[in-house]
Amino acid sequence: MLYYCSTTPPQFGTTVVQHFQHRMKLSFSKIIGVSDLNSIRDKMVYNYNGGNLSDYLTHYNTIYNQTVSSIQRGGVKSMMVKLIEFSREEFLSPETSCDRLWSQYIHPTHVGQLTIQQYKCALAIRCHLIPDFCRSEFNEIMRCDCDTAVTTKNLSPEEETNMKEKGIVPLLPHLISCAALQKVNFTIRRDHVKLAIAHIANRYGIRTTLEPRVYAYPDNSASRPDIIFAVQNCAHIATDVIVVQPANSTDITAIGSAAAAKAREKIAQHGAAVAQFGHKFIPFALETTGHMDSGCFQLIKTLSNAVPFASRPSFVMDMKAAVSTALAQYRAEVLISTLTHVRTRT
Ligand SMILES: [Zn+2]
Repeated sequence: MLYYCSTTPPQFGTTVVQHFQHRMKLSFSKIIGVSDLNSIRDKMVYNYNGGNLSDYLTHYNTIYNQTVSSIQRGGVKSMMVKLIEFSREEFLSPETSCDRLWSQYIHPTHVGQLTIQQYKCALAIRCHLIPDFCRSEFNEIMRCDCDTAVTTKNLSPEEETNMKEKGIVPLLPHLISCAALQKVNFTIRRDHVKLAIAHIANRYGIRTTLEPRVYAYPDNSASRPDIIFAVQNCAHIATDVIVVQPANSTDITAIGSAAAAKAREKIAQHGAAVAQFGHKFIPFALETTGHMDSGCFQLIKTLSNAVPFASRPSFVMDMKAAVSTALAQYRAEVLISTLTHVRTRT
C-alpha cells in the first residue's frame, strides 16, 4: 500500500486507498469484536497506544508529494512519512499507558496465555471500547454500587460529553478506578501477577515456594510474603506482590509514587523478618497501569543472575511480558464478569 501511495497520484488512487483502509479497520473491528465501525475512534486505532495501525488515507497526499520531490531532489530519507500517531491525549485513562508488552507476546505455555475472549476484551479496552459479545441491550445503563450511573455503550466523543452532562459516565474508566465494581476481583489481580512470576521462574529452573510461613514476625502475626525464590549459590529471595491504583493526579512526577510508597510499606513489614532468616526481601510493587517500581527491576535482575547466561535476555523479557499479560488478563476478566453478573439495574 505504501508503494501504491508513493507511485499513484492521489486524484486517481483515493478510492483504492479508502477501500484498503476500510478493510483494515474492518479486520481490526473483528479482532476486538466491535461491529459498529463508527464507534471505533480513528484517533485511537491509528495511534501507537491504541490499535497501532497505519493511516494511509490521511497521509496519502504527503506520501505522494514527498516521493515526487525526493526523486527530483534525491535523498531517500525525506521520503519517510509518519503513518502512526504517538500522542497520548486520547488516552487519558492511565490504565494500559505503561503496559504494551502483552499484545505482542506469546506466552510459552497455554496456561499463561490469554484466551481469545480475553485478548479481544483487553485489546478493545485499550481502544476504550467494549466488545459486542459482553454487552447486551438490557444493561446499556446500569448503576454501580457506589451509586454512579454507568453506560456500556461505545460512545463517540460528543455522545460521551452529552452523557456526562446527564450524570452518566462510560463504564471502562469507572470500572478501572471504582473499588465497588471490583470488590470481588481485586485479589485476583495480585494472584495473577504472583502466579505469572512464579511460573516463569519455574520454567527457568528457579524453585519457588508460595505463601511461605517460615518467617517469624515480632508481633507473632500470621503475615507472610508471597513467594520465596530458591536461588542457587546465594541467599534466597522473598518477594511480596502488590498492585495499586496510581496516585490520582495529572502531575507527571506522581507516576509511580503510589507503588513506591507501597514498596516502602512492604519493606517495613517483611524486611526484618526475612533478613533474620538470612534471606533477602525485594518487594514487587506495580501500578494498575503496568508501571513497575524499581524493586521489580531489581528482583528480575537478581533472579536473572541465577539462570544460564544465554537465557538471561529471554528470562527478563518473559518476566516483564508475563506480568503485563497478567494485568491485561485481569482487566478483561473484570470487564466480562462485571457485565455478566449485573445485580442492580436502573
Ligand atoms: Zn462505582
